[in-house]
Amino acid sequence: MYLSLFLLLLLVPSNAENPTHKKPLLVPSNKNLEIKKPLIVSSNSENPESLHVTSNSENLATTKPQPFSFLNHLKGCKKGGNLTGIRELKKYLNKFGYLNYKSTNGSHDNDHFDEMLDAAVKTYQANYNLKITGILDSETISKMAMPRCGFPDIINGTNSMTKKIQGHQHHGSTKLHIVAHYSYLGGSYKWPAGKTRLYYWFETHITSSSIKQAVARAFNRWAAATQYFTFQETLNFQSSDLTITFYRGDHGDGSPFDGPGGILAHAFYPTDGRLHFDADERFSIGAIPNYIDLESVAVHEIGHLLGLSHSTVQNAIMYPSIPYGVVKTNLQPDDIQGIKALYNI
Ligand SMILES: [Zn+2]
Ligand SMILES: [Zn+2]
Repeated sequence: MYLSLFLLLLLVPSNAENPTHKKPLLVPSNKNLEIKKPLIVSSNSENPESLHVTSNSENLATTKPQPFSFLNHLKGCKKGGNLTGIRELKKYLNKFGYLNYKSTNGSHDNDHFDEMLDAAVKTYQANYNLKITGILDSETISKMAMPRCGFPDIINGTNSMTKKIQGHQHHGSTKLHIVAHYSYLGGSYKWPAGKTRLYYWFETHITSSSIKQAVARAFNRWAAATQYFTFQETLNFQSSDLTITFYRGDHGDGSPFDGPGGILAHAFYPTDGRLHFDADERFSIGAIPNYIDLESVAVHEIGHLLGLSHSTVQNAIMYPSIPYGVVKTNLQPDDIQGIKALYNI
């Protein structure tokens, strides 16, 4: 029944030289890989209810297994187990920073549930406020299976979700301890002092005004909450601080997108400024079942553009995952405390 509401967006390879490779890569990345050409997202309608980004194989979303569907077979699995799909779990936990076999005897490339994997699952459970058992119970599986941001939870071994820069704050005379769950990497990735006006640039072939307006609203939320940053669109790439692009699959920055579901988007820390959406997602404007609200994802990714990492607070914008059909655009006290602490405002 929603089909009549869908706006079909055409995705055509770009012939334009890709200008987004302008700054050193920070997180997440493998340095200096060649950036592939951006996808063109265009629209011929002003107010779509949803934005259906078409792909070369239009039925991808229904015919292809979701990127995280391997998890369904792993229910109940724990240390010592051997089950097809565990290697996928290892890749998953590696991607988000939980598991790295580099300096040990273990391997990503087998289906053995070893000590390292046990520790990684426990860290994941701690970060997501789950029972810390090391067992892939149904709560853990359903958390892991949710669509999420591609930005890692643990960055170069630093668990951004448990490291508290400012562990406790005292509020008035009540002596109430409020634990801050927001995080950033020691304040080293932030916009320089005085740089409060940031210019954003849409990849030239994003012509949908609905997409642009949704992203603009997301920027405005951070502007209103901080009373510090202001954001303005520029049509001039050279003068931009932030860039917004839709990519599909491997797009050359070391963090490939994974088709419909799974990873929705990612963004880079200051002062890199790149925000990438997965063009294979079924994005919507507003809450539509089985669609991901574009503005909600944008608000989250802008947090990374400003220097925030992931939060353990489930209702915070900086929480890593978001369900389908949900609008989550209101910055929460945790997000606001985080950005204010980072910029000392
Ligand atoms: Zn994120
Ligand atoms: Zn990217």
